Amino acid sequence: MEKRVFERPTITKLSPGLPSKHGVGTAIAPMPFVEGLKVDELIEKYGSPLFILSESVMRKNVEDVNRAFKVRYPKFQLAWSYKTNYLDAVCRVFHQEGSWAEVVSGFEYDKARRNGIPGEHIIFNGPGKKAKELAKAASEGAYIHIDHFDELYLLADVCQKQNLEARVAIRVNMDVGIYPKWDRFGFNYENGEAWDAINRIMANPKLKLMGLHTHIGTYIMTADAYKIAATKLSDLASNIAHKFNHNIAYIDMGGGFASRNTLRGAYLSGEDTTPSFDEYADAITSAIINSQIKPDKLPTIILETGRALIDDAGHIAGTVIANKRLSDGRRATIIDVGVNMLFTSFWYDHKINPTQNHSGLVEETIIYGPLCMNIDVIRPSLMFPPLKVGEHFIISRTGAYNNTQWMQFITTRPNIILIDKNRETHIVRKAETLDDIVANEEIPEHLK
Ligand SMILES: *Cc1c(COP(=O)(O)O)cnc(C)c1O
Repeated sequence: MEKRVFERPTITKLSPGLPSKHGVGTAIAPMPFVEGLKVDELIEKYGSPLFILSESVMRKNVEDVNRAFKVRYPKFQLAWSYKTNYLDAVCRVFHQEGSWAEVVSGFEYDKARRNGIPGEHIIFNGPGKKAKELAKAASEGAYIHIDHFDELYLLADVCQKQNLEARVAIRVNMDVGIYPKWDRFGFNYENGEAWDAINRIMANPKLKLMGLHTHIGTYIMTADAYKIAATKLSDLASNIAHKFNHNIAYIDMGGGFASRNTLRGAYLSGEDTTPSFDEYADAITSAIINSQIKPDKLPTIILETGRALIDDAGHIAGTVIANKRLSDGRRATIIDVGVNMLFTSFWYDHKINPTQNHSGLVEETIIYGPLCMNIDVIRPSLMFPPLKVGEHFIISRTGAYNNTQWMQFITTRPNIILIDKNRETHIVRKAETLDDIVANEEIPEHLK
């Protein structure tokens, strides 16, 4: 056999923008406007960085999820998940659209009451409710979703001592085919714990079993998981009807619908992989309608959707602080938005666009925030045009969790504005000042 000629291996530099084996590289288009308003002008008026919320997008999202469920099922109710974004202005938009409040702490409960929501339109979730909070919620007619046996006994004690009745549901966790399982909240379905809790509630005359609840996780990318969960809750509901001749008023499927953000490192964009509201609605409503529950006894479906209703209504605009080259030659761009205010950059590859056209070379860039911390990375790697110091950019889909999980750290937090349907802008949370930060501090006498 003839000896084959040695061929020297070669390394070819792939030029960005040209087709690769994955197709044509995406050029980053400028995004000069949000809701028809110039981002550069908003920054000039309200400072940088700047959170921008769109009221129209929130209302549109509520309308879409309502339609998806109401055409498939007779009774449907949304409850706004406060921890996803509890700015009063945001909550009030959702309440105006008919959403109840879903809260997970006494603090959130009081915030919902301050927003004018009566107790009987509040769903009280969370694993850490205190005796005082339980008593208040029970006396105001809220739906208390019991998380564990110790809470069940605490509530029974509170109701007995204060002669109160409580409207309750239990939170159920279960195997829905997603691993690791979310089994630290609520009572387990498979091992019989949930059925045990139901029997104890039915045996207590102070506790009124109104519904069943599950929250299977967050950013759930498969509608099938909801179908499994709704089937298991419907089974419990028909077992309750059979044994106690008691029909529950609602099945609460929690939150967890994915937004169109792209998870960090995901190969496909969230815009292509996220199920629609119709797919989620199909999965949930078909499971309940096809269960053993009689048609005239069908429970209301409650949803506590957070992320999928607010994420794409939020943006953060900001300014380039500096550019530099890392030791390996990569370009690094430093911006005035850090992970302290954009917490979700730990798990999303947030979309980021310049606000102006750029002609320079699009190349691999790492985007850092302004904090003195190595972990302050907004995007570890993306193809990005060269932005000069002082130029602006806008990061999309930042509406969920950032305004609740953000931290005051090293810098103060910026203005948040809301763009209303008439494209008027309103500050809904003022930028913090040094005085705000020290307002709760006290200096001991000997240090004055
Ligand atoms: C966080 C949470 C929600 C909202 O979840 P999303 O993933 O934002 O839709 C709903 N219900 C409960 C109990 C929660 O803890």
